[in-house]
Amino acid sequence: MDQPLPNLPELSLPRIVVIGAGFAGLKLARKLKNKNYQVILLDKNNYHQFQPLFYQVATAGLEPSAISFPLRKVFHNTPNVTFRMAEAQRIDQSQNRLYTDIGYIEYDYLILAMGADTNYFGMKNIMENSIPMKSVSEALFIRNKIISNYERAINIADIEKRKALMNVVIVGGGPTGVELAGAMAELRNEVFPKDYPQLNFHNMKVVLIEAGPSLLAGMSATSGLKAKEYLESLKVEIMLQTAVEDYDGLNVIIKR
Ligand SMILES: Cc1cc2nc3c(=O)[nH]c(=O)nc-3n(C[C@H](O)[C@H](O)[C@H](O)COP(=O)(O)OP(=O)(O)OC[C@H]3O[C@@H](n4cnc5c(N)ncnc54)[C@H](O)[C@@H]3O)c2cc1C
Repeated sequence: MDQPLPNLPELSLPRIVVIGAGFAGLKLARKLKNKNYQVILLDKNNYHQFQPLFYQVATAGLEPSAISFPLRKVFHNTPNVTFRMAEAQRIDQSQNRLYTDIGYIEYDYLILAMGADTNYFGMKNIMENSIPMKSVSEALFIRNKIISNYERAINIADIEKRKALMNVVIVGGGPTGVELAGAMAELRNEVFPKDYPQLNFHNMKVVLIEAGPSLLAGMSATSGLKAKEYLESLKVEIMLQTAVEDYDGLNVIIKR
């Protein structure tokens, strides 16, 4: 929008605009409380999301409110720090202006702390057909998708078609994939058979696919091995050195 953001406090201090109230932006804004700067913290949501526990929301272990915190509450009584819900759209460096969906804002210093997005490595079908997990709403989408698939599966007589609604394939054997695979297997082993006694959960596979030779590649070899052993004890099928090439919404295609 080509209008200035209204109702910002007029302070004669150098202005720092921080885009993104994730771990980085929020920490910085908190550090700058009561310092000689005016800080405007922007985020497209008015809450902070604790990403490490998304997998718990996806598997119904936690409610979204347990891992989302209102940003305005963090900045009570902080006259030099203002939060505004806005989505950054473009920067005009020649005028020190940041354009957002609700207007532009002028800055002396601009900090980009917008985090990262899911990397699909250029695979368009996977982008269209798979479900990422980079926000509370995506984690909730996974939860709802799983539950609605089982509600549908109960009404399907053909076993192969039923299995297709029950299997879960997780791609990426880093910490998030490992946590999610473990939580899904626990649900399958302990919870779902009670909720859906008409479904046979021996038909449900939890598969974890990793392109590299071990799980938790960024951690020690022992951690990777322990995670593998533990997941296998939960009956997670682990496919190492296996690269996913495509996914049409029904079949995961492995690179040969
Ligand atoms: C599922 C999952 C599990 C994880 N588990 C762990 C873990 O166990 N341990 C660990 O150390 N790390 C973990 N991480 C990584 C960790 O969460 C990130 O490294 C960290 O969040 C990065 O912080 P950040 O502030 O750079 O970005 P983020 O926390 O991603 O914050 C970016 C913020 O910018 C906002 N934003 C984005 N674009 C715009 C825009 N255009 N305009 C306005 N606002 C915008 C977003 O809404 C968001 O609030 C996990 C990540 C995920 C996804």
